[in-house]
Amino acid sequence: MCRHLAYLGPPVSLSALVLEPPHALLRQSWAPRDMRGGGTINADGFGVGWHTPDGPVRYRRASPMWSDAGFVDLARVTTSGSVLAAVRSATVGMPVTEGACAPFHDGVWLFSHNGRVMGWPHSVAKLAERLPAVDLLTLDAPTDAAFLWALVRHRLRGGADPAAALAATVSEVDSAAPGSRLNLLLTDGRRIHATTAGHSLWTRPHVVASEPFDDDPAWRPVPDRSLVVADATTYTVEDL
Ligand code: GLN
Repeated sequence: MCRHLAYLGPPVSLSALVLEPPHALLRQSWAPRDMRGGGTINADGFGVGWHTPDGPVRYRRASPMWSDAGFVDLARVTTSGSVLAAVRSATVGMPVTEGACAPFHDGVWLFSHNGRVMGWPHSVAKLAERLPAVDLLTLDAPTDAAFLWALVRHRLRGGADPAAALAATVSEVDSAAPGSRLNLLLTDGRRIHATTAGHSLWTRPHVVASEPFDDDPAWRPVPDRSLVVADATTYTVEDL
């Protein structure tokens, strides 16, 4: 499993969001609480993306979040009203590289995947044939998560609504690779879209996250097989 979160709301420091809370992503990288999908720790890298007036910025490393002292300084002085962050537990056989760490990025979009594609890569080879060759030749990494991002991105570039792009991707990968875990997370800085398919997800105003990172009583678990759509003030949960 990996752990991911997206935030939309009044500007906050990256530190206040991913380092300082009692059960922040920092802590989830070595002591996650809701491990229903398997895995133990999330030490195969991390990434944070945030929107600025000049577009999204990313900071990613292929090392554990707790080992990066430079990020502590950066996170203290960087604020944003739109953030997507993830800590990674690489699926067995997949490379541990910066390019394999979420968030993946295109234009205003930031994307993360928590889960795995069963039977990777053979199970989805037919789906890959539908992507432009250049998309396959320029995958961020030879991983299921990067491939899922290529599928979602192709639909977004074709003009699909983000909710439709995520739902269609979950549906086609589910059919090709039954039993896959497909918690997807996508934001353009104005809205967050997220799916649950096999892993935990929680919401509270301004945040969608794999696990609650503090004791706020407003956290609500999202049922499996849901689509969450959130903006800076409210969120909805519907069946996927
Ligand atoms: N399968 C993805 C990867 O290896 C995501 C892993 C996860 O959710 N643990 O990058």
